[in-house]
Amino acid sequence: MKLDGHAKLTNSALRAFKSRCSKSTDVFIREKMCHLPQFNMWNIGWDSTDSNETDNKNLVKYIIAQELSIFGDSFHRVGNGYLARKVVAVDLELPLVFGHLADWGQKYHFMRRASGATVKDAHKEAIELIRKKTVDWIRSMMHILYSFRRRGRSGGSTTFLRKQAVSYLAIALHSLQDSFSPGHTKRTRYENPQLPGAIEDIYIYEKQDKRIHSQHDFDSASINSIHARSAVYASADLMRLCALSVSMKSMFPVGWSAFEDKWLRLSSRAR
Ligand SMILES: [Zn+2]
Repeated sequence: MKLDGHAKLTNSALRAFKSRCSKSTDVFIREKMCHLPQFNMWNIGWDSTDSNETDNKNLVKYIIAQELSIFGDSFHRVGNGYLARKVVAVDLELPLVFGHLADWGQKYHFMRRASGATVKDAHKEAIELIRKKTVDWIRSMMHILYSFRRRGRSGGSTTFLRKQAVSYLAIALHSLQDSFSPGHTKRTRYENPQLPGAIEDIYIYEKQDKRIHSQHDFDSASINSIHARSAVYASADLMRLCALSVSMKSMFPVGWSAFEDKWLRLSSRAR
């Protein structure tokens, strides 16, 4: 997906997550987790809900200008769309940007190493990354919500820790969303966005026609694309799983295997 695509998908997922969250029967989730500032949407004006060249270019300029400003990251408040911004930033931030070309970086975009990895290897590697970052988010948030104690008069704010937690979840969401782009994976054909096809192939970026990859990335983040709709549902589901795990004080993601099976299942045809 493109940068503006990741931003739009994440915003839609946050909307879906919050609306479902507000109906939760668990009081802790409803009162606390739904209202975490990091689950606020990014208020940024778009010309269109579809991913497109203009929004994508503007976003690159916007983020780069911010990164280069003297305030840098400290300028951004967690509540002001920080999560969506961070999901986008996986494509722009150093050192991850070098990962685009390096073998180790492919999992961040749900793609396969150029150096002879099988589809199964690539699938395992990307899933381990998504799971690990989910666990990192859960543990950080448990620390912040349950065991962090303010020390001294200045208080030792949790802002830094919260930002770090957002960065973990952002990496997980980015790779999860990319797994739905036909430029990144081949899934078995499907018609219900809630029941996506299994992953049959994971592509190697180096071997692709970059123009076609790019077009797929735009298409798969456009609102009437089935892939975009799956990416939104899957992202909202991951947020829910995170909220649920913290509310149950579980160090491990509650319902992970069902999540993986639903959104990231490997086809028996994959090698
Ligand atoms: Zn990516």
